[in-house]
Amino acid sequence: MKITDLKCAIIGKTPVVRILTDEGISGFGQAEWAKPYLKPFVLFYKPQLLGEDPTNVERVMRKIRRLGGFKPYGSAVSAIEVALWDIAGKASNLPIYKLLGGKVRDRVLVYNGGIRFPIEGKDSPESFAENTLKMKNLDEGFSIIKQGIAVHGEFASNFDDYFYGDVHWDENNSIVYEDESDQKPWALSQYIPGGGQITEKGFNYTIECIKAMKEVLGDEVGLALDLGPGINPSDALKIAKAVEDLNIMWLEDMITGDYTPYVLADLYRDVTINTTTPIHTGEQIYLRHNFKDLIDKRAVNVVGPDPLDVGGLAETKWIAEYADMNGISIAPHGTIDGLIGLAAHVQLAATLPKNYIAFEYCVPCHKWWYDIIDGLPSPIVKDSYIDVWDSPGLGISFNDGAKKYLKEEDKDFFD
Ligand SMILES: [Mg+2]
Repeated sequence: MKITDLKCAIIGKTPVVRILTDEGISGFGQAEWAKPYLKPFVLFYKPQLLGEDPTNVERVMRKIRRLGGFKPYGSAVSAIEVALWDIAGKASNLPIYKLLGGKVRDRVLVYNGGIRFPIEGKDSPESFAENTLKMKNLDEGFSIIKQGIAVHGEFASNFDDYFYGDVHWDENNSIVYEDESDQKPWALSQYIPGGGQITEKGFNYTIECIKAMKEVLGDEVGLALDLGPGINPSDALKIAKAVEDLNIMWLEDMITGDYTPYVLADLYRDVTINTTTPIHTGEQIYLRHNFKDLIDKRAVNVVGPDPLDVGGLAETKWIAEYADMNGISIAPHGTIDGLIGLAAHVQLAATLPKNYIAFEYCVPCHKWWYDIIDGLPSPIVKDSYIDVWDSPGLGISFNDGAKKYLKEEDKDFFD
């Protein structure tokens, strides 16, 4: 089998990759839907792929893996990797999990960082509690909920004097929930790392909001918190120690994180070894090599690579196995990995070792994506779990309804 073409279409805001072969089988992958600018990055790899046998996934990946980078630049490579597995699965009539070593679980736990609601009214401990209650009451019955706080999202920029000194927050620093018309490359401006030292009132407010959310969830639903990036290590440790009695699932990306192109494992280690609160990072990191320091030094308790940024499914599996040998858990990131990403996460999570906690439930850029993809279970999530399906490849496909969402320049995408 040989690769004959590589295409990329932006469907809604989502970059979708399609690899075609001379045997009529094609495979799909996607990147996070915050990256509608990704098309030229994907097509950059086309000359490297043409003529290769897509079922030799690793051999193909060896040609392009070195040409990626930390978020957002690893996502094109990762989307291609998923599409290769999709083809390899379809060609062998096996689900991807069989090709990754077989499943160790029949259903996979997911956590909710994707089905979110805007905070009603002004930020306050009460509004955070109310918001968390909405997430708790979702039909999916999520057993772990993740909220953004501190420097993540708009929490700090909505608060007067969160940091000592002036911080120049980006004016476009707003989260888009579901705006059909909005085509902004969301998440590019959002993660300018925060300020210097957190003020005492900023610190107290953060802890009050965390306590208010935890009160709503009790010990029935786990609370994970995404706090950065851009908190200095001493503030990070102060926060971690202040919430030790609250049994938080993890504190994510306090020092580095979203769109920071470096790791700083030693700084994470200084925090992690001094607190019982689990510390987490990794969604922006590209390749297993860049997890080596974090894992070897036991600098975090939980790693959170995003398979659609780190280099793909096999890359994530390797990191999970290596983390497991070193007593570190894995909770893959995935909130805006869309429905192709969701299928990929399910196939991967089925194969991960015992250190697997849950992956972040993926949502699409627009609700109509649920109408154009066939093959997902209905309902998708039951009691916070997704049953692993057995159809070949990713086990999902586009139906005819997808065509009407193709932009003029992508009209031949499904041909
Ligand atoms: Mg995060």
